[in-house]
Amino acid sequence: MEKKVGIYVHIPFCKKKCAYCNFYSLSGYDGGDTLMPAYKTAVLKHIEEYSAQLDGYLIDSVYFGGGTPSHFGASRLIEILEKLKRNGHVLLDSEITAEVNPGSITKEELVKLRRAGFNRLSIGVQCIDNSTLKNLGRTHTFADTEETFKFARQAGFKNLSLDIIYGLPSQDREAWAQTLGRVAGLKAEHISCYSLKIEEGTQLFDYKDSPFLPDADVQAGMYLYAVDILARFGYRQYEISNFARRGYESKHNMKYWLGEEYIGFGPAAHSYVGQCRYSFTEDVEGYIEQIGQGKRIVEHDEEMSDFENAGEYLMFRLRTTHGISEEEYYSIYRLKMDFVLELLYKYEKQNLAVFNEGRWRFTPKGFLVSNKLIGELLDAQTRQRTQISKPWKTETIAEETQMTLFDKRPVAAGLFGGRRLVGHNELS
Ligand code: SF4
Repeated sequence: MEKKVGIYVHIPFCKKKCAYCNFYSLSGYDGGDTLMPAYKTAVLKHIEEYSAQLDGYLIDSVYFGGGTPSHFGASRLIEILEKLKRNGHVLLDSEITAEVNPGSITKEELVKLRRAGFNRLSIGVQCIDNSTLKNLGRTHTFADTEETFKFARQAGFKNLSLDIIYGLPSQDREAWAQTLGRVAGLKAEHISCYSLKIEEGTQLFDYKDSPFLPDADVQAGMYLYAVDILARFGYRQYEISNFARRGYESKHNMKYWLGEEYIGFGPAAHSYVGQCRYSFTEDVEGYIEQIGQGKRIVEHDEEMSDFENAGEYLMFRLRTTHGISEEEYYSIYRLKMDFVLELLYKYEKQNLAVFNEGRWRFTPKGFLVSNKLIGELLDAQTRQRTQISKPWKTETIAEETQMTLFDKRPVAAGLFGGRRLVGHNELS
């Protein structure tokens, strides 16, 4: 048994809903309510039901995201982790992360988490300005961040990640530079920088046209400044929004970007297993009820074709500085990428992409417009497919595709599990 998998556990509870948040989470519940204990019981049952599928894997990353796992309480997180250890093969050197909000966890709880095997925390800092934090609906101050960070170190955590956001209301370049400086000064191993996205359905959506929001040019400048300044502090960019000291790249999130398998538990979580993607409904109470009754709880499932997987290869790997390679693409999918290459050469001339040691990747300037570039590359991939599918070649392609599919199929997808892709702290 050598197949590795990442486990995602969604914790859909927050103390209070943030003004910009569109992740699936409920606010207003605490440990004294019955919903959190009932949810924990459902997740434990779900893991138990899934143990036959887990048996075929080595678990090398576990990620508790949300929501706010720290609001759920250390004891409940530990119970779930223990269950995973009993029902799956969690490797000793597995990366085990919990998302934590500053001020929402005590030093004693952090010690308990560390002793139970958690070895990485992702802390939602967002910015250093307390009035901005308040306007965003965050329940902490920057002093809480500093204290939680200090407690985490004292508890023995040697792998800490800090999340910050740029493009916040009233945030100018100077304020962003101060956030970057103070946050980098904490000397965490990993920093994620996300741009504020104003999504429909959030409280902030009513202010989407506010003159207090930095415009696109200012945001672009903030991003490029972050890439530059973080490099000076020793943080290497390895993904559009993620920066790490060497060796501290998030193992778990790399699975999403490298197209590796992951299994989720909890409402709204996603899974990718054996060429299938599936997800659960965004409904905690429905999840608890259906798990309790042993019902099928998948909301959406989809078997990925080889061509779709090839598209995801371009889409996800180009988010990373690892990038893509022609040989790798051909060896996995038996597809040529001549049309894609034509575009990449064009991007290279525009300083949007670089070719280095056999691999293509975007530059920071390219990352800024990566959605557009990836869209163009996917179109090029489709055009290429249309061309190679001319009748005289169809048979060969079908034969090759068949073989590739067969080679990848042995792991059957467990279609009653599945959850959300990543926790809120690490999603851009
Ligand atoms: S941003 Fe995070 S802490 Fe805030 S409501 Fe959303 S999930 Fe909860």
